[in-house]
Amino acid sequence: MSRSAHPAGPRHADVLPEGHYTAPPTDLNVLDEKVWARTVTRNEDGAVSVGGIEVTRLAEEFGTPAYFLDEDDFRARCRAWSDAFGKDADVFYAGKAFLSRAVVRWLKEEGLNLDVCSGGELTTALDAGMPAERIAFHGNNKSEEEIERAVRVGVGRIVLDSFQEIVRVAHIAQRQGKRQRVQIRVTVGVEAHTHEFIATAHEDQKFGIALAGGQAAEAVRRALRLDGLELIGIHSHIGSQIFDMAGFEVSARRVVQLLAEVRDEHGIELPEIDLGGGLGIAYTSDDDPREPHDIAKALSEIVTRECEAANLRTPRISVEPGRAIVGPTAFTLYEVGTIKPLEGLRTYVSVDGGMSDNIRTALYDAEYSVALVSRTSDAEPMLTRVVGKHCESGDIVVKDAFLPADLAPGDLIAVPATGAYCRSMASNYNHALRPPVVAVKDGEARVIVRRETEEDLLRLDVG
Ligand SMILES: *Cc1c(COP(=O)(O)O)cnc(C)c1O
Repeated sequence: MSRSAHPAGPRHADVLPEGHYTAPPTDLNVLDEKVWARTVTRNEDGAVSVGGIEVTRLAEEFGTPAYFLDEDDFRARCRAWSDAFGKDADVFYAGKAFLSRAVVRWLKEEGLNLDVCSGGELTTALDAGMPAERIAFHGNNKSEEEIERAVRVGVGRIVLDSFQEIVRVAHIAQRQGKRQRVQIRVTVGVEAHTHEFIATAHEDQKFGIALAGGQAAEAVRRALRLDGLELIGIHSHIGSQIFDMAGFEVSARRVVQLLAEVRDEHGIELPEIDLGGGLGIAYTSDDDPREPHDIAKALSEIVTRECEAANLRTPRISVEPGRAIVGPTAFTLYEVGTIKPLEGLRTYVSVDGGMSDNIRTALYDAEYSVALVSRTSDAEPMLTRVVGKHCESGDIVVKDAFLPADLAPGDLIAVPATGAYCRSMASNYNHALRPPVVAVKDGEARVIVRRETEEDLLRLDVG
């Protein structure tokens, strides 16, 4: 690679350094509908709009960085999941992906249930009117106070995650004169991420009670003995951003084996199994997620087949998609600040946010795509790294992405598929003000989580 041969910087395929990209896309102005929320379109004048509003207008009104969430898309995905699973299954939205009172109301209206895993998420759910019986409470270290409140308000289920918790929840329920519906979370020895799953040795983690060595069977034994608990089923969650159903297949088989053991030992057929969440979405054009309908069909076939083989009644299935519902519905809008071409490498494009509004790239080496959205450009593709404004060299939003070579400070760029685990994991690092979430629908934009202010920062700092 010769520097002098490419005085214009790293723009040509033959000088591209190693990275997570294939080739520059043929037309940078085209938005791949796979990674953008449903109502996102590029208008004739070149600007991109969502819910009928141009991003340039949104930036003027709400500032940047900001998350814009397509409410119609969110509701459509809720309906797709609940229609796909039908009346004989339950869909729990995993609130940790992104939760706000507006989201809770949409879930309630669309007939979904809700997973929470902290007192704060429970408060948000109840405050926005989610009926307690439609809430499942998760977590590997729920506090006494959290359990007491969950039992008192009458959550539909608590997912027990350890031997201590079996006893703790039973005592709290008994003290309140209640019988709490519970599931036991088991570790099936499968871990799945993206296109792979590994079926050995993944008991080595903090969640759940291992099937291996008879631990889960012992947990069931203990739970059945305690008056404060009504054991309704077994829960398993195997990973995140999964495309391949093979991991679910192994997980379902192992959970059904446990149900058969429970029947043989106790003469009881537990009525429910929960297969967790973790279904993948398209972050880049290389990802091909399955439709909820296909997922529902595959899961129900697996469970039915395994139950027939074990001569068990097919239990009621529940699933817990978080990312697959909210992830694709939002994008983060940034304004381009400084631009630094590093010859022979790539061009660093700094935006007005960063790891404080999207930690996933730094945390998991996550892949994202990005597009210039305030205008079109016919300039040639330039290999960029989109970085934030924080004091960390790992403060990367998009590791490898092509943007037009005429990109300039003041342009608006957007990173799609940031609805899940971005605002919910946002931080105040460098005293950044966490961005707002703005819901857009039918030509109207409404702030559902407002931007933090410097007063908010100072209010917590009591001197
Ligand atoms: C995180 C989590 C989910 C949701 O995972 P997604 O990847 O967002 O679908 C579901 N269930 C449990 C128990 C989880 O911990």
